[in-house]
Amino acid sequence: MRICERIDELREQVSAARRRGLTVGLVPTMGALHEGHLQLVRSARAETGIVAVSVFVNPSQFGPHEDLSRYPRPFGSDVRQCEAEAVDVIFHPQPAEMYPSPYHTYVEVYDLQNGLCGSTRPGHFRGVATVVLKLFNIVQPDIAYFGQKDGQQARIIQQMVRDLNLPVAIRVCETVREADGLAMSSRNQYLDAEQRRQATVLYSSLVEARTRIENGERDARAIVRRIAEHIAKAPDAQLDYVEAVDLETLRPIETLRGQIMIALAVRFGATRLIDNLQMQVAT
Ligand code: AMP
Repeated sequence: MRICERIDELREQVSAARRRGLTVGLVPTMGALHEGHLQLVRSARAETGIVAVSVFVNPSQFGPHEDLSRYPRPFGSDVRQCEAEAVDVIFHPQPAEMYPSPYHTYVEVYDLQNGLCGSTRPGHFRGVATVVLKLFNIVQPDIAYFGQKDGQQARIIQQMVRDLNLPVAIRVCETVREADGLAMSSRNQYLDAEQRRQATVLYSSLVEARTRIENGERDARAIVRRIAEHIAKAPDAQLDYVEAVDLETLRPIETLRGQIMIALAVRFGATRLIDNLQMQVAT
């Protein structure tokens, strides 16, 4: 396994693989790898000739008061986990390699970037879209892998690929969860024992919502209200938002019908967790 810090080194690795006729898979991450990331790696390993994992805590997607400086960076453990999954290349650039000064160019995926997490994290998806487009241009993967856990992000990337005619296929892989249902996240390690115990409300509220929808509930407002009440039972949980949206437009809906997503963000102290439920709802 090669670790490349520089773009030209990484490009050399990828070109050499291409000359050997291999397809290229890319798994973009911010590191602090866990089983959720590793599932993406395994999907890539099963489908593409070489697997590149990028480990880059992207400054442009963090707001001024967010956790950029304290975001976990256990690079040694990331390397060991990638090695164990037979990753071929880790791309681990420094911020100056990705954003040399002066830097002027950003990508915005209009409308889709504004609601849900975009309303409480202004500029976040501009940073995400920009770094992902840069990674696509650097690595030029045939297939790139993302997690459903970041549902709005995956939708935005798919739209960017479509709108800008990028020659890459996007795979969105199912959310990997802890035994009690909490979606795995690099941010879970910020939680203290009590917050961790209460954090199961994100998933349990979504499971309850799914059951209600399966039993015929179609009123989005009723579902959203019910989830908010469920979350409020956890004394340390502060609901950031919960919304039922159309999965294509990410716009709020009144009636649950077609391909929908119910997405939420909950804060425990300074730690913000997200989760979502996606389903096809019959009329
Ligand atoms: P991150 O390092 O948090 O930026 O995540 C990198 C990629 O891993 C993104 O595509 C995430 O959606 C995905 N990911 C993170 N957590 C999970 C999870 N629990 N299950 C599936 N994919 C995940």
